[in-house]
Amino acid sequence: MRRWFADFALVQGRWQSDVQIGVDRGVIVDVQTAAPRAGADHLGRYVLPGMPNLHSHAFQRAMAGRAECFEKPDDSFWTWREAMYREAATLDPDRLFVIARLLYADMLEAGYTRVCEFHYVHHRANGNHYAPMSAMSDALIAAAQEAGIGLTLLPTLYQRGGFRDEPLAPRQQRFAFALDDYLYLLDSLAARDEGFRLGAAIHSLRAVDAQIIATLCAHDELSNRPIHIHIAEQRRELEDCLVMHGRYPIDRLMDIAPVDRRFCLVHATHASSTELEAISRCGAVVGLCPTTEANLGDGLFEIGEFRRLGGRFGIGSDSHVGLDPREELRWLEYQARLASGRRNELASADKPDVATNLWSEAVLGGAQACGAGAGGIAVGADADFLELDPDDAAFAAMTDHNVLPAWIFATARRPLKTVIVAGRSVIKNGRHAQREVFEAAYCETLRNP
Ligand SMILES: [Zn+2]
Repeated sequence: MRRWFADFALVQGRWQSDVQIGVDRGVIVDVQTAAPRAGADHLGRYVLPGMPNLHSHAFQRAMAGRAECFEKPDDSFWTWREAMYREAATLDPDRLFVIARLLYADMLEAGYTRVCEFHYVHHRANGNHYAPMSAMSDALIAAAQEAGIGLTLLPTLYQRGGFRDEPLAPRQQRFAFALDDYLYLLDSLAARDEGFRLGAAIHSLRAVDAQIIATLCAHDELSNRPIHIHIAEQRRELEDCLVMHGRYPIDRLMDIAPVDRRFCLVHATHASSTELEAISRCGAVVGLCPTTEANLGDGLFEIGEFRRLGGRFGIGSDSHVGLDPREELRWLEYQARLASGRRNELASADKPDVATNLWSEAVLGGAQACGAGAGGIAVGADADFLELDPDDAAFAAMTDHNVLPAWIFATARRPLKTVIVAGRSVIKNGRHAQREVFEAAYCETLRNP
């Protein structure tokens, strides 16, 4: 077991001083506050738990910034989706690997220590399987391992074009899986022990039939693994679901699936008050991706109400138009301020510090969505730590207890100093050691489609 020491660390939602942390095989096994420094390696003056990124489509990094020009008066998620399909059509395992590897290094430099990869581009462009069938999954696993980020791989089930069982369009064929083939992939990935976590994803209610969702949720291999689903993101999806089933999507999901702590409901943008209550009661996590949701014009999630209900949430960079956990968290608070006309919305008299609340809560929700045993700097959690640079000029006028708000709400002038994943240092002095190599391969690949 290795012992680390932090002068100040964010432990259970509070800054604590003189924190000693025991780590064994990548997992925290002991946390002491007001502890002696002797016998422990110095982790830093200001230490945070690493942030899980609970929603990523790695390949979309390559198109971020390429769908920002007017096409027609009703540009929307659906017109953006056409650009995304064009990008998906270019992928093969080698290209996906190179894109994901640099993306994951970028995430680590920004303070994301784990990523849930909601992975739906499985096959060749004509729908034929690769050999092995897991070739695209293997590319993501290899990219995460080379970059050093913790991966929760979520192979995604995608079967139809809409709520009325519409067939998939030709460009969607490479997403399609028959249930038997999908479960074979899942079971074969579960049998491997290669340093990644595994869960499942259902693309959306429109893409998978209710009976199949129920069968998937009852699959033995998923009894204790995360299950993610895109839900209630788009108004058209709400209307279609209501017409077909007489229920809005989250109510519908609750009707057909045993939604519990395994679940991450990605977006849930248009959840009603009763749906928010139901989510918080069952312990599922809501996966919020504020920069992508803003970029796509999705709408505003009622984060203030959800927090008051005790709901769990985490953050994801999704389409990667943003790649900084602080930006996602600021957007959560700012969208609540813009809607209410008040400040410091995601805080209260007993928990007054917005930055501490947001970071701590998103770490816990993110860890749950990743399938981790615990979250934050706590026994049973992954030993993922960030060291802020105490010499950053942004902290010059701050007391030790104001450092986290300064880091999140006032732009830091220096990057994170050190990033540790599962007890291993992957970012030193703000840089990934392989950045130049990953960048060169990325640029060469993208310049030569
Ligand atoms: Zn998504």
